[in-house]
Amino acid sequence: VTVRTRTDDPLEALRAVVGAAHVLTQPDSIAPYLVEPRGVWRGAARAVVRPASTEEVAAVVRLCAAARISVVPYGGGTGLVGGQIADRGGAQVVLSLRRLNRLREIDVVSDTMTVEAGVTLAEAQAAADAHERLFPLSLASEGSCTIGGNLATNAGGVHVLSYGNARDLTRGVEVVLADGRVLGALGKLRKDNTGYDLKDLFVGSEGTLGVITAATLRLFPKPRARATAFVGLASPQRAVDLLGRTLAAFGQDLVAFELMPRIGVEFTARHIAGVRDPLASPHAWYALLDLASPRSNDCVEPLSLLLADAIDAGVAEDAAVAQSVAQAHAFWRLRETLPEAQKPEGVSIKHDVSVAVADVPRFIDDAAAAIERSFPGARPCPFGHLGDGNVHFNVSQPLGADPVWFRAQEERIHDLVHGVAIRLGGSISAEHGIGVMKRDLLPRVKDPVALETMRAIKRALDPDGVMNPNVLFARPAADRSSVP
Ligand SMILES: Cc1cc2nc3c(=O)[nH]c(=O)nc-3n(C[C@H](O)[C@H](O)[C@H](O)COP(=O)(O)OP(=O)(O)OC[C@H]3O[C@@H](n4cnc5c(N)ncnc54)[C@H](O)[C@@H]3O)c2cc1C
Repeated sequence: VTVRTRTDDPLEALRAVVGAAHVLTQPDSIAPYLVEPRGVWRGAARAVVRPASTEEVAAVVRLCAAARISVVPYGGGTGLVGGQIADRGGAQVVLSLRRLNRLREIDVVSDTMTVEAGVTLAEAQAAADAHERLFPLSLASEGSCTIGGNLATNAGGVHVLSYGNARDLTRGVEVVLADGRVLGALGKLRKDNTGYDLKDLFVGSEGTLGVITAATLRLFPKPRARATAFVGLASPQRAVDLLGRTLAAFGQDLVAFELMPRIGVEFTARHIAGVRDPLASPHAWYALLDLASPRSNDCVEPLSLLLADAIDAGVAEDAAVAQSVAQAHAFWRLRETLPEAQKPEGVSIKHDVSVAVADVPRFIDDAAAAIERSFPGARPCPFGHLGDGNVHFNVSQPLGADPVWFRAQEERIHDLVHGVAIRLGGSISAEHGIGVMKRDLLPRVKDPVALETMRAIKRALDPDGVMNPNVLFARPAADRSSVP
């Protein structure tokens, strides 16, 4: 797109590129782009710009770079670390990718699909399904989040155990760089050893190195049979034991293995309409697991047999295998509404930690003990993707405590929980990213050489700091006043 305009007004120039209707400046129309799902971060912006093609994105970025306006890429706005929210200064441009919504190609022989960045995850899944293929990335936000956002955050979700995270599912990317050039790396190749793997730089870069405009994604055979089970267990260690048995029996057909504590089941049964405990009596811990097989016609019977054996061996205490699709959905609803069910219980301080699978029981025990020592009565609700060693160690306030006081303890609680994870060689961000939320924490936990290498990459690709400058890297203290 060549822009010819006589004006020095950058907004006028942006209108010439994308059309006046797609440069939003009215407070009402930009407001939805300036707050994130939990209402934790709020920002301001000069404009929200909505290009419809890679060429338009490139022209917008070039104009912004020339005018020294920084750009905040925005997909579905579901990110949980504030990376998609402009700062409070009101000078940034929010770049919405939602109008880049075309499915460019499905290749069922190579098992790839090339989609534009603004396609929602649910739309991408449906496109694969319509061609008898599976695109396995699956998040509770899939109706709103976009492929661009999924790659930019290297999203995880419930099927990482079998299929990997967004990075593992990406064959190629098309990216508009910070100077407006287009890096076309949309190859479908499984093997390509021609130097640095540039696509991997952009996956997980949270909008700090360029704008992802399209991606070539991997597809898989569609499962013919499925089974879902809800299992009662005595401890996280028993859940790890059950995971080992299930993996040994079913390998990659075990597509999800989630862990939940009793308090989480109580929260959902109490606060979410229609949710009930699937098992007859209470258990201290629960696993929710999914088998899906492209080869077999029946997963229900083999899973039932495995669980019966596990109960006989004292690994599991009780189990229910879903007998219908509706029942399987009901089990999953319990898991997926867990974050929502924590809200009525007061302030919940959240973590997205990963450790080696074998260390999950120790992590949960040590983190719970550390919280109890410093905040007696606080209620940990650790749940998440046990098969990936990824625990959302959320801590609800003590019953009856002052929510303002508990919110003020957030940093101390983060330090306690992250401290345990780091001691076990874990990560403070398994799947949500760093964003604004953890950028000041990162220098305290990341290897200094690794962090300096990341900064060198940022300087090389974005020397003027056009792309999402508030995200990922801590800013000098004096510079932080306008930052959310
Ligand atoms: C209910 C709920 C459940 C969730 N469950 C999970 C889960 O299980 N696993 C998980 O990993 N996450 C989960 N998330 C977090 C979130 O959905 C993911 O991070 C998702 O990948 C974000 O996609 P998005 O399109 O909404 O991105 P946004 O929120 O719009 O942006 C996220 C980041 O990516 C950047 N970005 C967006 N688009 C582009 C682009 N085209 N090019 C470059 N940068 C871009 C933004 O600048 C920002 O830094 C959940 C969120 C919610 C609300």
